[in-house]
Amino acid sequence: MTAAVIDGKAFAEGLRARVGGLAAAFEAKAGRKAGLAVVLVGEDPASQVYVRSKGKSTVEAGMNSFEHKLPADTTEDDLLAVVAQLNADPAVDGILVQLPLPAHIDEQKVIATIAPDKDVDGFHVINAGRLAVGQPGFVPCTPLGCLMLLKDRLGDLSGLDAVVIGRSNIVGKPMAQLLIAESCTVTVAHSRTKNLAEVVRRADIVVAAVGRPEMVKGDWIKPGAVVIDVGINRVAGATEGKTRLVGDVDYASAAAVASAIAPVPGGVGPMTIAVLLRNTLVAAYRNAGLELAADAV
Ligand code: NAD
Repeated sequence: MTAAVIDGKAFAEGLRARVGGLAAAFEAKAGRKAGLAVVLVGEDPASQVYVRSKGKSTVEAGMNSFEHKLPADTTEDDLLAVVAQLNADPAVDGILVQLPLPAHIDEQKVIATIAPDKDVDGFHVINAGRLAVGQPGFVPCTPLGCLMLLKDRLGDLSGLDAVVIGRSNIVGKPMAQLLIAESCTVTVAHSRTKNLAEVVRRADIVVAAVGRPEMVKGDWIKPGAVVIDVGINRVAGATEGKTRLVGDVDYASAAAVASAIAPVPGGVGPMTIAVLLRNTLVAAYRNAGLELAADAV
């Protein structure tokens, strides 16, 4: 079997187009654009690239992007004051503080200060709690993007065995919650899991979010399973001095067994920003007291 390729790039483009249409409708109804504020502290090169790309995508979707770039020596109090100001600003529907923050700033304290209804990253404990008990809130962008790809591929997920490898607050745990809500039988594997290959072999759905290049091998995969590879790992390339991106799944061997697989790059990666825009749009409708159908986007 050669697995179908799950084209996250194409799906993300479609999602962004739908968000763009609804953002225009929002502007017509609310008399203002939806707005996303992104806060970057320091000059981490990868974070600068992410922030630039988020800002550009926000504007392309017809929403306002407010960028706050603060120096690396910004105090925790000063950052908390910026967040408080954004919480109070009616033009700002979503707030994203780019992580990681410099070591002298307590990330959890900053996340806890973001108004839960503007927390479009879904990292606030209130939103984690809402997800756990099945109330509407904001779900972290990467696992929500994975769920969209799975549902697009499989339709109803009810009764399927799902194995999530990784238990981080950003990917693994919310992914598991989302799959439970879809009535999957969910196993969460992590660094202390025994016989990982055997655990993974039970799964109809495998979501790998580990951060270890090509760790999951094809002979761990049940024939016909759907594999979502969240990992982004930079490894040495074929040419000296060049690097390339690989996922947490050994693509070639897994693609020979799975029915479908999300590749790296081009699978989950493009979904994250598209879902961020989606969450910002949902925040705008909610904050303005406007109706948005649950299945609109
Ligand atoms: P993390 O480091 O916070 O968590 C990694 C998890 O993997 C941990 O729960 C740990 O228990 C588990 N783990 C570590 N070694 C293991 C092993 N040998 N066997 C089984 N489990 C093991 O990472 P994260 O933030 O959840 O990210 C995971 C990966 O996903 C990274 O490669 C990251 O770059 C990538 N990622 C991609 C996107 C995207 O937009 N595509 C977004 C977030 C994270």
